[in-house]
Amino acid sequence: MKRMLLITAFILMLMSLVACGNSERGERLRVVATTTYAGDLARAIGGNAVEVITLMGVGIDPHDYQPRQSDTAAIAAADVLIVNGLNLEERFGQVLQNLQGTTLIVLADALEEGDVIYEDEHTPDPHIWFDVSLWAKAAEQLATTFALLDGDNAELYSRRLEAYLIELSWLDAHIRGRLDELSPERRVLITAHDAFAYFGRAYGVEVHAVQGISTSAEASIADIEALAQLVASLEVPAIFVESSVPESTIRSVKEAAESLGHNVVIGGALYSDSTGDASRATETYIRTFRANVDLIVNALSEEE
Ligand SMILES: [Zn+2]
Repeated sequence: MKRMLLITAFILMLMSLVACGNSERGERLRVVATTTYAGDLARAIGGNAVEVITLMGVGIDPHDYQPRQSDTAAIAAADVLIVNGLNLEERFGQVLQNLQGTTLIVLADALEEGDVIYEDEHTPDPHIWFDVSLWAKAAEQLATTFALLDGDNAELYSRRLEAYLIELSWLDAHIRGRLDELSPERRVLITAHDAFAYFGRAYGVEVHAVQGISTSAEASIADIEALAQLVASLEVPAIFVESSVPESTIRSVKEAAESLGHNVVIGGALYSDSTGDASRATETYIRTFRANVDLIVNALSEEE
């Protein structure tokens, strides 16, 4: 009998715990996201039911971002931490090992076998957001997890997901429509670091970069020379700097190509590992991706 009472008490306690979810307390789900893309996805799916803090600002390079003490405090106070994963946040190892009471969502965990591109056996490419179909999978996983953590708002998350997936399909159509303006030999994208492999695979663009998938390794003179040779031989009209990477390596490629007798312009700055901001109307993933594609197509379709 005593045992029965204990069990009943335990069940009652569990029920009361479930009942006082975030929305019951009139509180929103507290979400911390590492990158601007992850933060934007959390807002897109969570709407008013979530409160999102993004740790890295606009234009910050996530590969070498060192979490601060204030970041650790924000994570400790949050219900959910969202990271991109695949080692994009190279310096977050310690932080991820010491999570207490904060649910971790790794966006890349939504991907399936064959989705992930590998630079070599041990090095997955983390720039998954540049394939809209993969970002849609991350959105679905996020909505499911939000609903599990905050059941009272499950319907809201599901509704917002449906709307967002439609927006993503429009984005995908825009990207394909714009790239169709380029003749096949013009579909060559040269950038500072290798952030566009998923973009290249998804949308049929040949992609080359001075640096590998991480920005932490220095580009060598040989890398720059080899890329300049390629730019000259393919007669690439424009190459691109990136908003979160110093411009110097791409400028060196331009100079090296010119010394080979091929004039190439800097087509502008692409957003690679961070979204843009409201002052340039690129504060969301969708707006950032559109701006990139418009910049790429406009620069590569310029007549010489
Ligand atoms: Zn990167």
